Amino acid sequence: MSKKNYFFLIFLFFSVLVVAQSKSKFKAVITTWKDDKPAAVSITFDDASYTQYEYAYPVLSKYHFNATFSLVGEWTKEQASYSAEAGMFEIKKMGWQQIRQLQKAGNEIASHGYRHQRYNRRLPLDTLAAQMKRNKTLIEQHTGATCYTIHYPYSFANEKTARAARIAGFRFGRTGGSSYNKAVPDNILLLKSKAVLSDSVPNLAEFEKWLENAHGKWLILMYHHLFPKGSKEMRILEYHKVRNTYSLYPATFDKQMQMLAQKNYWVAPVMQIGKYIVEREAVKLKTHRCFGRYVIKLQSKLDKIYDEPLTIRVKLPWKKIKVKIGETEKIYSNTNGEILLDALPGSKIVIKKKM
Ligand SMILES: [Zn+2]
Repeated sequence: MSKKNYFFLIFLFFSVLVVAQSKSKFKAVITTWKDDKPAAVSITFDDASYTQYEYAYPVLSKYHFNATFSLVGEWTKEQASYSAEAGMFEIKKMGWQQIRQLQKAGNEIASHGYRHQRYNRRLPLDTLAAQMKRNKTLIEQHTGATCYTIHYPYSFANEKTARAARIAGFRFGRTGGSSYNKAVPDNILLLKSKAVLSDSVPNLAEFEKWLENAHGKWLILMYHHLFPKGSKEMRILEYHKVRNTYSLYPATFDKQMQMLAQKNYWVAPVMQIGKYIVEREAVKLKTHRCFGRYVIKLQSKLDKIYDEPLTIRVKLPWKKIKVKIGETEKIYSNTNGEILLDALPGSKIVIKKKM
């Protein structure tokens, strides 16, 4: 081998070494869930029972949780009022006054149909979509915010119902199914949920299992009423020996939320977690490095409604760094060798090495 070739080989060897090293020292990935939490949980309510406002809302506020509340258009008046579904006794429902208050506090307002009836799958797609859109429009007129999520009445939905929901403008749909959603759900308009059927189904030990098994997944909890012990409503249900009361005592709800708060999970409305998933799957990270700078671009073709910040886990060897996302600059000490940064789809992160 000539001397020249010999040097070239050495040069090549070191180049490969340097590239390999920098590949392992610099890395950026979108975490499965926000803040790299191990699981996601949504707390959802149906039928807009006044007990949700009276008893669940204060508990949610205490633990700093936001939930998704779905309402039936036909039942919703400006003030709280009584209404009943066929064969049931009258139940007090929230009015727009309470709904707006929940929304202002950061909760999501979802649709549960203009009427509390199963959507008829035999109807043409467009007719079905028009029926769904009626309640969406009503909610948007009263809240001033876009309604993204539908909780199908009686959780009655299939692929066709999901297609109609998409045509109506919904982005996320919730059914029953008594199970979890994968990190990448099969169909984001047919999300599965686990329903609380009574004060003891699930019991607290079972509820703890529900939470433990949520690891890596998205658990959507479904609630209805929170009638207190000894209330008129509970007495009627007990008299008729109703097993699935779809109601739990406020104290039980508090215990469940306390258990949830003890887990280090991401708890957020359906819309927020749904957006995060869509973004996580659509955004491509493009990275490059030059002269003490590491640049991460969040390339996205998504429309503007996808405004949920993504968490990027960045691995880099620099101890002291200056991070610029959009117009904001911040100094971090990178003591663990990696940091978590929040950035919107379409934005750019510039990390500079600080001496
Ligand atoms: Zn319902």
